[in-house]
Amino acid sequence: MIIHEHFDINENGHLTLGGADTVSLAEKYGTPLYLLDENVIRRACRTYREAARKSFGEDALPLYASKALCFTEMYRIAAEEGMGIDCVSGGELYTAKRAGFPAERIYFHGNNKTQKDICDAMDMGVGTFVVDNPDELSAVSEEATSRGITQRILLRITPGIDPHTHRAVVTGNVDSKFGSAIVTGQAMEIVKAAISARGVDLAGLHCHIGSQIFDIEPFEDAAKIMVSFLSDIKKECGYDIRELNLGGGLGVKYTEYDREIDYASAISEIANIVSCACNEHGIELPRIILEPGRSLVAAAGATLYTVGSVKCIPHFRNYISVDGGMPDNPRYALYQSQYTALIANRASAPRDFCATLAGRCCESGDLLGENIKIQTPKRGDVLAVLVTGAYNYSMASNYNRIPRPPVVMIKDGEDRVVVKRETYEDLVRNDV
Ligand SMILES: *Cc1c(COP(=O)(O)O)cnc(C)c1O
Repeated sequence: MIIHEHFDINENGHLTLGGADTVSLAEKYGTPLYLLDENVIRRACRTYREAARKSFGEDALPLYASKALCFTEMYRIAAEEGMGIDCVSGGELYTAKRAGFPAERIYFHGNNKTQKDICDAMDMGVGTFVVDNPDELSAVSEEATSRGITQRILLRITPGIDPHTHRAVVTGNVDSKFGSAIVTGQAMEIVKAAISARGVDLAGLHCHIGSQIFDIEPFEDAAKIMVSFLSDIKKECGYDIRELNLGGGLGVKYTEYDREIDYASAISEIANIVSCACNEHGIELPRIILEPGRSLVAAAGATLYTVGSVKCIPHFRNYISVDGGMPDNPRYALYQSQYTALIANRASAPRDFCATLAGRCCESGDLLGENIKIQTPKRGDVLAVLVTGAYNYSMASNYNRIPRPPVVMIKDGEDRVVVKRETYEDLVRNDV
């Protein structure tokens, strides 16, 4: 096992993912290549679904935050696993519709839904809008009223938690493009506006405190602040908030230095806090929604590259250049995200080489990692970067006119293409 149990090494010394030989897959499909283990994704969905039902009751619903990894087959899997989904754009909604995803289980997010987005989502019958701000509330209310419908909504609220300092920093995240803050009084204002607005049914509140969080405390703090706000709403407006969406953000193990989170027990800890807080405030437990993205799909993925040049600059560093880079994985360039990399065709050899992994773009910041301990590489080797299932394919670009790699899904050792490799013809399709 390497980092997660579906990554292993076979008798040829090749890296395997879900039992499939990655070196053979690189030969079959070419590189760069995204791989996903379908069983890992399905297991993660079930873990969340079962833990949510056990901890919060039968009507608890985990949503898959689909910005983490979005294509038609992924929505089919989420639908089959009984998940709801969080969509943030017309493009995600369109893809979900193409997959036949049940519209009533869609939560439509985003801090700036265009008029077209709002209309398209209502045409589709999207179950719930997560309304970000007063301007958007008016727009949704007007559109719903003109259609003679009542649109179910949640309001996005900023509880003021900075997840990367351990306890609540009460003004921590007030300065955000998302949502309305409780401490400024704007949250209560938008709640009152939503209660009296025509064409909308205020079902609940939403908060999302951040991503790649390993501690439970920030979630506990957020849950307590939100429940106390529900109780304020009840006192001030006599209004019962029926649903509380606590967002996503639980962390994933990317390297041997990260902890592994037991998601089921994390969910049950959060559930305890929520029900204690509700008891304390004398309010009924609302329906609880969780909204994980990364923790459902990240671990399932790996990206395969072919090693090009290996360059050693004496007294400086070693560069390994691969045939992909920031176009297929911009996360190191964006936030110095850490990954585990290995030479897939000599996976059991010692990691005796320290290198910077460079992409192929004309951009010195196009790196996939620095100070990576890896097997001594040579031109033509297959290099694997692990745990790339989240925010890689979904953030990919065509920078330098590089076509996006295909996505190959592995299930029980069988492989199938779920997103085809882009061609040069695809790249010029919209050029006139
Ligand atoms: C990104 C996001 C999520 C998912 O976050 P993860 O860290 O991937 O679990 C959930 N909800 C909202 C509103 C988000 O923006």
